[in-house]
Amino acid sequence: MALHLVYHPIYSELELPPQHRYPIHKYRMLYQHLDQELGLGLHPHLQLHQPHPISIDEVKQLHHPDYIDALFSNTLPAAKMRRIGFPWSPQLIERTLTSSGGTKLTVDLAYQHGIGIHLSGGYHHAHHDFGSGFCLINDLALAARHALTLKGIDKVMIIDCDVHHGDGTATLLADNPEIITFSVHCDKNFPARKPASDIDLALPRDTTTEEYLDAFASILPLALAQHQPDIVIYDAGVDIHQHDELGYFKVCIDGIYQRDHLVLSLCRNASIPVAAVVGGGYRSEHQHLVKLHAQLIYSALDVLTQR
Ligand SMILES: [Zn+2]
Repeated sequence: MALHLVYHPIYSELELPPQHRYPIHKYRMLYQHLDQELGLGLHPHLQLHQPHPISIDEVKQLHHPDYIDALFSNTLPAAKMRRIGFPWSPQLIERTLTSSGGTKLTVDLAYQHGIGIHLSGGYHHAHHDFGSGFCLINDLALAARHALTLKGIDKVMIIDCDVHHGDGTATLLADNPEIITFSVHCDKNFPARKPASDIDLALPRDTTTEEYLDAFASILPLALAQHQPDIVIYDAGVDIHQHDELGYFKVCIDGIYQRDHLVLSLCRNASIPVAAVVGGGYRSEHQHLVKLHAQLIYSALDVLTQR
């Protein structure tokens, strides 16, 4: 039983001003860390895949075509680019489309093999006609809609455990009863306005590892039993970590492993495929994020080999 990983070098290929908040190097560092620790390409339980960019037509079926045209031609008003938080460049557009293609490919791999992991993704603050918080287009919503085109997939659940609320996903999919949005987040954190997901678990600042796991574990099995999704898209953001610079929880690294293991093992026991993305995680030393994001891969390997 192999674990299928999706990665593209373009994820870290973006020129940003010095001191920019976005941890652009973490994707390459995570890939290199996994290669050093596990030997990608040689590991008996790992298989690597490289995605293609998602088609612009597909993006325009979800987002407003005028927004996408302006975004891709660099004619968005400056205020709208500021809300996204990146300087415009052709690299940014190519990277964004490739990352969305990666989350879509991860859904296909999960559908075929049980678990797929994308070493990028989780752009949940992208809305119908504007982007925000480093998110241009919503890969989670695009991948969920793609999943519904697969034979036997009639219901999708997006479990978003990034510390920030999945506001873009919630509004984009509000009228899609076949896609259940489930956000676990900090109640006093970005975004200020938190439109309702189908399920929202809002936890206070300073939530500890034990409190986090207790709250999540008391809701997740019920949510899965009630909605019985045919596939889960899981945002495993590590900005719940106690030292994250944009999060306010006090969750330790083992808590991240336990959370990821809980999602993956519950879904595996219920024969629900999981397409996971690494999601958010913010430290000025990008290297500090690598071990946190690696917990997702370690927990997936343990679930696959039943440890
Ligand atoms: Zn986040």
